[in-house]
Amino acid sequence: MLIHLEDILQEGIEIELNLDPDDPAVQEMNIRGPVTGSLQIRKTGQQVLVLGNVGGKVQLTCARCLKDFIAEIQEKVDIEFRPVLDLDRAARERELGSDDLDVEFLRGDALDVGHLAAEQISLAIPMKPLCREDCGGICPDCGADRTLGTCGCEPDTDPRWNALKDLKLKIDN
Ligand SMILES: [Zn+2]
Ligand SMILES: [Zn+2]
Repeated sequence: MLIHLEDILQEGIEIELNLDPDDPAVQEMNIRGPVTGSLQIRKTGQQVLVLGNVGGKVQLTCARCLKDFIAEIQEKVDIEFRPVLDLDRAARERELGSDDLDVEFLRGDALDVGHLAAEQISLAIPMKPLCREDCGGICPDCGADRTLGTCGCEPDTDPRWNALKDLKLKIDN
């Protein structure tokens, strides 16, 4: 979904986003259900300010038990788009650490809000997603789901104890 900069009114525009899971912008993500959001887009001189929120249901794989689950992601949007010409200035500001705001760069004369929404949702996905806070993971020996109960396997023994075991055998002899 492209918003042409010349279509952004002086007082700004509001966009209600509703993307199908098979929309090209979000196609590569495991989106389940539509990606929705509402965005306020305002021009401030050469810059374009995008404020609002986006959200959607994403299928993720639990880092502990490897089961797929659906996570509901909601993310605030607060991005300032600048003309690419401003690249040098932005780099300098970042070095000075004076810029807390999310800054991106405008390419061409349009803003792809579908892409923007997909990007914000991707960024909100945790590095190690968990199906539940206290997911017990799977047993490395038998593969049982430890959230459902103990599987009866012996707890892992620390290999450092093996030296002790050898010692004990020697004494017994
Ligand atoms: Zn899990
Ligand atoms: Zn087990």
